[in-house]
Amino acid sequence: METKYGFTKMDISEFENWIANFRVGRTVIYLQQHHTVAPSYQHFNGSNHFQLQRNMRDYHVGSNGWLDIGQHFSIFPDGDILTGRSLELTPACIYGNNSGAICIENVGFFDNGVDSMNQAQSEAIVRATAAICKKFSIPASTDNVVYHHWFNLSTGSRHNGDGLNKSCPGTAFFGGNKVEDCENNFLPLVRNAMTGGVIAPIPVLLKYATVTASALNVRVLPTSSSSKASDREALVLGSVLRVYEEQNNWYRISSSQQHWVSARYTDDVERAVVNASVLNVRSGPGTSFAKVGSFLKNQEVFVYERSNGWCRVSLDIKWVKDNFLDF
Ligand SMILES: [Zn+2]
Repeated sequence: METKYGFTKMDISEFENWIANFRVGRTVIYLQQHHTVAPSYQHFNGSNHFQLQRNMRDYHVGSNGWLDIGQHFSIFPDGDILTGRSLELTPACIYGNNSGAICIENVGFFDNGVDSMNQAQSEAIVRATAAICKKFSIPASTDNVVYHHWFNLSTGSRHNGDGLNKSCPGTAFFGGNKVEDCENNFLPLVRNAMTGGVIAPIPVLLKYATVTASALNVRVLPTSSSSKASDREALVLGSVLRVYEEQNNWYRISSSQQHWVSARYTDDVERAVVNASVLNVRSGPGTSFAKVGSFLKNQEVFVYERSNGWCRVSLDIKWVKDNFLDF
């Protein structure tokens, strides 16, 4: 492992070990796959990982005005992986669909006839995807492992590639960028890679809660005078936490560690799954409000607020009718 410019470079075996032991407070339910287009294989010389990663950050911050590089991880043509944005932060990778997501940018241009993916990179993509799914209990399904191509670029609605879209992660990405290609070609490899090692049982949750402070410290005891957890970053506004235990208005947010946050700086949220084939999203709690997007069946959301049979499913103003959600 090597760190430079604030990024850490790992090979896939190092990554698997690192992610398994890394502590993340934010609840992750989606894993996004992308390709970078530029840089592509012609820009990679075998040793300029850090330079290319820094160029991407400079572009995202300087030209796009983002707070940091958009993605959490970049996977390079030789299979090496570089960290990017903090895992406690929402990525900037699929418009309207970044909450609760981890974003992987695969370095290359994987449309038909352009870069032909190296074996080392494809193995790293499969194993990294499997390691992240295991770590966060993300199902290896096309409901939760998603391609940029499946979302409308201006509304964020999921349309499975039938509408305004990018080809990302590429028309030749593991045999294609369609939902069927992912299901038939990519996910079987991921599921196969997930079978190694022990998959821990999913611990029983009390509930979910969202952070209402701009930064919320994680402490080693349920009291504000205790010290901060040394291996934890502060949690950020809007993150959804898993609550395993409650004591005197403090929440334990780790299943295995004594890691606590003050409940004063949180609000309860509910996790729900869309049960309608297409569910309209509106700008307020009622059919008189403008339609601002849509969900497809089995998309998962967090409900932040309820009003007269309607649910606000985002930090933004996005409302859906409650009978089309399963809790
Ligand atoms: Zn993309």
